[in-house]
Amino acid sequence: MSRRDFLKTGLMVGAGLGLSSILGKDILSSAGIITPKRWVFLVDTFKCVGCGLCVRACKLENEIPYDVPVTRTWVERYVVKKDGTVLADSPYGGRDGYLINNPQGIVVPQEDIAKAFFVPKLCNQCTNPPCVQVCPVGATYQTNDGVVLVDRKWCIGCGYCIMACPYGVRFFHPVHKVAEKCNFCYHRITKGMKPACEDACPFGARHIGDINDPAHPVADIIKTQRVSVLKDEFGTKPSVYYLGYDSLIR
Ligand code: SF4
Ligand code: SF4
Repeated sequence: MSRRDFLKTGLMVGAGLGLSSILGKDILSSAGIITPKRWVFLVDTFKCVGCGLCVRACKLENEIPYDVPVTRTWVERYVVKKDGTVLADSPYGGRDGYLINNPQGIVVPQEDIAKAFFVPKLCNQCTNPPCVQVCPVGATYQTNDGVVLVDRKWCIGCGYCIMACPYGVRFFHPVHKVAEKCNFCYHRITKGMKPACEDACPFGARHIGDINDPAHPVADIIKTQRVSVLKDEFGTKPSVYYLGYDSLIR
């Protein structure tokens, strides 16, 4: 009897005994008996007010120096004027919030604004990640649950992954001198916590979820509502989905 058959038989015999709690979900998922977890992220641009609390929380949680202009997540501001001009910026990643109406340093009278919105960005944890493909030493890799990680011990700082990422989310860590990026706060989500940015957002604009858990509200929204991913045409298959996507988003 194969290991898989053995586990299946055991599952039938053990029905009602809570087999997953006995064997562990990892064993059952590797045997193909239950669907493994796959992390996804939902950004609701309708709810983001550009306060920047998420950016500050991320820097603190992940030890990115506060005053260095690099960040694992950031918030972009878009202001569209009635004459069609689009102004977009993200000073210090939106860390300090957008308290003044001065996109790209230009004061725009309220009556000239057709629409304005904020767009949080982060690593898309691509299913086909070019950053992983180009790493010559295997220092960046995908986990079984769909997150792209960087192993600081193996990274040689060549920067290939930074150049390969079509979303510009990677940078050199100013202290550790290795490639750095968002990892959905993997150290937190694997312990049942939310990412720091989600915890910090007072408006519910950011949500982690498991796309393979039909009971998870994020999975439900992604499967039933009109959501979009960034730069879909690149074929990277992002795991970050946007509600309220606007075609002006870069
Ligand atoms: S967004 Fe960039 S860094 Fe993140 S997985 Fe995709 S290619 Fe890699
Ligand atoms: S904390 Fe929430 S509302 Fe504030 S900028 Fe971040 S995503 Fe937007």
